[in-house]
Amino acid sequence: MSNLPQLPNTLLQDIAQHAHDDYPNECCGVWLQHADGRWSSRRLHNIAAQKQRAFTLDPLDILDLLEGEDQGRWRWHGVYHSHPDHPPFLSNQDRAHWITAQTPWLPGRLQLIAGVTNGQCDFALYMWSETQKQYECVRLIRNVICDTLSTGT
Ligand SMILES: [Zn+2]
Repeated sequence: MSNLPQLPNTLLQDIAQHAHDDYPNECCGVWLQHADGRWSSRRLHNIAAQKQRAFTLDPLDILDLLEGEDQGRWRWHGVYHSHPDHPPFLSNQDRAHWITAQTPWLPGRLQLIAGVTNGQCDFALYMWSETQKQYECVRLIRNVICDTLSTGT
């Protein structure tokens, strides 16, 4: 399939770093492509009460992201979060969180999950399927090492 979403490796390393830094809590954030073509991830606050087992985005962050997109400053591609010491697969809790009445909470955004152990991540990328009314895993990326470990600092 030629229309699989792009996911630059530097982006994955940044997200792996975030997952490692916030371990054993779940981290969350987004990734964007800017008007000049540059990709970046943005770390967001996890405002969940039980950060070791859940994540919740701050609604103010979401407003800011949508506003920037409206103004043409970036295209907001997706949301990521980590699963400390667990595989990167959508949990029942994730499904309950993201899908209401067979509709995704943030239509058009990808979902990326990072299963993180010892600074190493396995990623699973999910896309919404209109026919299945479900998120489907479209890519698996294994053994991405976070930045600080790969450069030895
Ligand atoms: Zn999850």
